[in-house]
Amino acid sequence: MTISVVVPLYNEEENVHELYDRLKSVLDALGADYELLFIDDGSTDSTLKLLSDIQARDSRTVVLSLRRNFGQTAAFAAGFDYSRGDIIITMDGDLQNDPQDIPKLIELMKDYDLVSGWRKRRQDPFLSRRLPSLMANWLISRVTGVNLHDYGCSLKAYKRDVIKNLKLYGEMHRFIPAVASWYGVRIAEVETMHHPRMRGKSKYGISRTVKVVLDLITVKFLQSFSTKPLQFFGPIGLASGMIGALISFYLAVEKLLLGKDIGGRPLLLLGALLIIVGIQFIGMGLLGEMLVRVYHETQKKPIYVIKKVIGPGYK
Ligand code: UDP
Ligand code: MG
Repeated sequence: MTISVVVPLYNEEENVHELYDRLKSVLDALGADYELLFIDDGSTDSTLKLLSDIQARDSRTVVLSLRRNFGQTAAFAAGFDYSRGDIIITMDGDLQNDPQDIPKLIELMKDYDLVSGWRKRRQDPFLSRRLPSLMANWLISRVTGVNLHDYGCSLKAYKRDVIKNLKLYGEMHRFIPAVASWYGVRIAEVETMHHPRMRGKSKYGISRTVKVVLDLITVKFLQSFSTKPLQFFGPIGLASGMIGALISFYLAVEKLLLGKDIGGRPLLLLGALLIIVGIQFIGMGLLGEMLVRVYHETQKKPIYVIKKVIGPGYK
């Protein structure tokens, strides 16, 4: 079994050496084959230089230098693409996660496909960080149906299988458990340590919350309707179109049978609007259906995931 540890770093020069030393001592003690992947996410300080020096001394490390700052999600994605281990561990590069938790995660990987850390005693300010995070975790759990206390914890472990098919966009790395649940993976959550940031600055503020909520909408839509968009847009379109048709029918009766003037009625506007919106929604659903077919059929992407085939001639 080989282990890849993936760590994104953006302007973390004060943390690089201690991070490396602590990771190395934990991983050496494990006795397993491992590699350390450091992703320099376009740092403007000496992070890349320090990482390159480490790499020159230690052939178990790989340094990926991104051309500019692409963000943590992209950095993780790069790390996944270049990792070679059977188990992939992710963590932050600021030592808020503790490398000493890694053996605990690996132990659990015997029974699970994905193990997610839970910073139960999280050492971040309450109002600006922990409260929004509490609400976000509640919301994400409710919406996606995958209940975790701490989606935001970077310390996670994945089987290679789980991330192999995964494409990450936006701020989506935190949603991997929710996305992966579509594949039917077994997920565990485990308490991990968390430390205050000792050196360097946090890269995020409260604005991240908005991005997370928007990404949640994407994840939910893809999770439920990505292979059947008309089933999402269709009912809305039908409902809107039908109410519009009823209103128009009522107005037509008034005009044609009772001879009333309907030209200035707000209801007329509403009826027409609902019909047009209804047609638009159904049209959008149908376009979606075409996109799904183009996407899956041109790229040979199945709409299912097979764990293994049992039968003669199959491995
Ligand atoms: N990070 C990154 N690219 C970015 C922002 C952050 O690679 O654009 C890294 C950062 O260096 C750290 C990790 O992601 O290793 C988590 O960032 P941070 O500690 O600032 O987040 P917080 O713990 O405050 O949520
Ligand atoms: Mg941090």
